Amino acid sequence: MTSQITVSLTAAAVAAALLAAQAHAQTTAGTVDSHVAAAKAAAGTEHVALFDALCRPASGPPPAATGPRPAPERSTWHAEPVKVFDNLYYVGEKEYSSWAIVTSDGIIVVDTIWAHSVDDEIVNGLKKLGFDPARIKYAIVSHAHIDHIGGARFLQDTYGTRIVMSAADWDFAEKSPRLPADIKPRRDVVVADNDKLTLGDTTLSIHLTPGHTPGTISLLYPAKDGGVPHLVATWGGTGFNFELTAANFQTYIDSAVKYRDVVAKSGADILLSNHTIFDGSRTKLPAMATRKAGDPNPYVIGNDSVQRYVKVAEECARANLLRLK
Ligand SMILES: [Zn+2]
Ligand SMILES: [Zn+2]
Repeated sequence: MTSQITVSLTAAAVAAALLAAQAHAQTTAGTVDSHVAAAKAAAGTEHVALFDALCRPASGPPPAATGPRPAPERSTWHAEPVKVFDNLYYVGEKEYSSWAIVTSDGIIVVDTIWAHSVDDEIVNGLKKLGFDPARIKYAIVSHAHIDHIGGARFLQDTYGTRIVMSAADWDFAEKSPRLPADIKPRRDVVVADNDKLTLGDTTLSIHLTPGHTPGTISLLYPAKDGGVPHLVATWGGTGFNFELTAANFQTYIDSAVKYRDVVAKSGADILLSNHTIFDGSRTKLPAMATRKAGDPNPYVIGNDSVQRYVKVAEECARANLLRLK
């Protein structure tokens, strides 16, 4: 009897090992072309901009900026704020996104855009929408690149906004030669994988998805449309503008696989990016102005489409990993 149990356990162990070997083979199988084809299929008609940006050969990090960066002309970046859901407002630029989640106990901003535009877009945007920017309690910085962290110090200094990042990206920000010292926020709230952040009636879940930077944060949070509940997913870092090493691509791939599973289990049906080109905001934001009662919200794309967005990122990363070899 004892030996039978031992035999069946051994058989189970062998089966598990075989499954693990197959899973490993799947992660390393395929060709550049087969992964590009898988990404194209996942992109469908909705995620073509993401496919186009990620599946071409990756170029790696841009050259480091030298000297002070002049603020661009306002007309090149300014956008008006837009109400998109009952509790969610767009307060970003033409290209760089910032989203304001209005809760029963204040406002959470997701990404702080640039130092030159935070006052004009986030602060004045909230005022135009009828909100008091002094009620921005938290700003979650998806990752410590200057186009998303640039306004954090201003919010911290002006309103006492708590700045939220992962430990790895606090370190990354402190060391980064690309961030001028006067815009770096003081180290504040540190979040870890699967943490929850609650303000009033609203809870966000935090998912660490390193790859784009060492501590990129992706999120899940609720949004209501005419009282109907939905769930937002964000993929916090998109491009392959990191050092092009196999380890970095594998980290990105592992995060995409993990986060797609999070998306699948959560049922998230909205995908928001921090760049307007990737989530369709360039057409969806203007469309909100002419939306009539009863029209579908263009941001509600369904769980399958949100999963496919993350799949595009994963498959294009696999293609670019193979291009290194
Ligand atoms: Zn970035
Ligand atoms: Zn960016």
